[in-house]
Amino acid sequence: MCGITGFIGDTDALSKIVRGLYRLEYRGYDSAGVALLEGDPADLAVYKSAGRVGDLEVPTVSDATCGIGHTRWSTHGKPTDENAHPHTDCTEHFAVVHNGVIANYDELRGDLETHEFTSQTDTEVVPHLLEEEYSETSDLRAAVESVTDRLEGSYALGVIAEESDRIVCARHNSPLVVGHGEDGNYIASDVTAFLDQTRDASYLLDGDVAVVSDDDVTVYADGEPVDRPIQHIEWDAQAAEKDGYQHFMRKEIHEQPWALRQVLASHVDTVDRTVDLDIDLDDDYLRNVDEIQLVACGTSYHASLYAKYLFQTLANVRTSVEVASEYEFEGGRDPTRTLVAGVTQSGETADTLDAVRRSAANGATTLGVTNSLGSTITRVVDDSIFIRAGPEIGVAATKTFSSQIATLVLLCLHVADVRGELDSADGRRLLENLRNLPSAIQQALDNESRIQAVADRYLDEDAFFYIGRRMGNPVSLEGALKLKEISYDHAEGFPAGELKHGPLALITEETPVIALLTDGSRPDDTITNVKEVQARGAPVIGLASEGTGNGTLEERIEVPSLGRLEPLVANVYLQLFAYHLADQKGRPIDKPRNLAKSVTVR
Ligand code: GLU
Repeated sequence: MCGITGFIGDTDALSKIVRGLYRLEYRGYDSAGVALLEGDPADLAVYKSAGRVGDLEVPTVSDATCGIGHTRWSTHGKPTDENAHPHTDCTEHFAVVHNGVIANYDELRGDLETHEFTSQTDTEVVPHLLEEEYSETSDLRAAVESVTDRLEGSYALGVIAEESDRIVCARHNSPLVVGHGEDGNYIASDVTAFLDQTRDASYLLDGDVAVVSDDDVTVYADGEPVDRPIQHIEWDAQAAEKDGYQHFMRKEIHEQPWALRQVLASHVDTVDRTVDLDIDLDDDYLRNVDEIQLVACGTSYHASLYAKYLFQTLANVRTSVEVASEYEFEGGRDPTRTLVAGVTQSGETADTLDAVRRSAANGATTLGVTNSLGSTITRVVDDSIFIRAGPEIGVAATKTFSSQIATLVLLCLHVADVRGELDSADGRRLLENLRNLPSAIQQALDNESRIQAVADRYLDEDAFFYIGRRMGNPVSLEGALKLKEISYDHAEGFPAGELKHGPLALITEETPVIALLTDGSRPDDTITNVKEVQARGAPVIGLASEGTGNGTLEERIEVPSLGRLEPLVANVYLQLFAYHLADQKGRPIDKPRNLAKSVTVR
């Protein structure tokens, strides 16, 4: 996720683009850059560097009336000056800004052997392909269409070329909007970039290519002009940053299908259904590993617990999960056969960094699983995997939980494959479920009003219990954590079978119990525990697979069918439950008291 913008008109483009980039910075902020057509005849000038928009060195004045800009959130290649956008071709005629992931960039690079690449990004294939296609037609739109025909993955692209007084842009699975102004026209990832200049915008759809000049915007689909109506935006700039959502948390909950598609596009070959994690860990090493230790805190710890079950059952490898602040590299293990993976959204979690450093000092091989390319953990570990969820602004982690699990599932499939376990029907089914996860989560999101109504009914209770078994257990822990983080209500998660060993003493008719009754969480056993709490008067909200829990629950919410990933879909309901309950209570959802997004202290 990142911000792209551009302007073409009859006034100074540079200041408009830079102002837009400041407004888009919430979308990504590790590098920034601008490309301008300066002088007459036009000469392409590119200014870019790692760091925030404020660090970008641009001329104080410019005669350019056309240009594009980018604020990056790296997915391929560290945040360096070279990897910052815009990217250009060998002749420096074309400049490109991109939001998304070009899934087949490696293969495309192979087709561009004669081209000299200057970055590690997936994006850079685009200007080089343009150079080739443009030489055939000398028509920028036709060249962009030919290039996008060859791209897989997700993109919003903004393109300018020296010979051409227009911006050509294209979208597929990444947002792009055109702003219609008085003194020119704009392109941007979202309307915040130009809202102070114009409130008239047309949203592009997947597959659209738009040609934007100073006085005209024409949108094409399949090569034919199409009408994309101009809408008048009523939101203010702050609401627009959140796409009209009241809180980043809710926006991020709704971004989960998109975020998951990003990670899948990066690592799963759609044709032959294979997983390529782009890691250097040697196959021989993985084949001989005795134990995988996942070390993490908070939500990342719960994601790791979920993955543990899969590693053990699918890859047949002993897996332990440790709270990072409690971690010691204990005896009885051969460090050369122990893989320690630090799972941290920010890549800066002090407890996790410390645990990983200590295991490395003991001789273990270390891996980072993070959302942040270039973060500290990537410099500490032997190898890293990126979950590619896009920036998460809300303090309570939501989309990164799903993306961490999806990434760990891919790692599990890779390890299982290397260890000769993947041929099993089980592995194939899990990969298929993973590919269907974004649409299953979308179904849950489409059912938001149902869970909102349930949250409204239990607004007056102030203690909640969450129960589940197997993969339902980490989800019950995560559901309870979400509720306490943002609503400040008391909430506890337990393995369902543990209730009777103590916590049952707390159950009354005023303590709603939320039960995971999905595939992957042994619903038939948990039903017994549901009966135990109902016998003490507690109302039960059940998240249940089709055909499970009918007629026995006070509230039954059906979870789309998805095998062992059903608990992860159920978790989306728990995120929404916590969100709506906290929202009704008027809590400061994106910034709960006492908490910080990135916990850099021990
Ligand atoms: N995949 C591109 C990169 O890593 C674009 C990332 C973004 O959307 O900011 O440069």
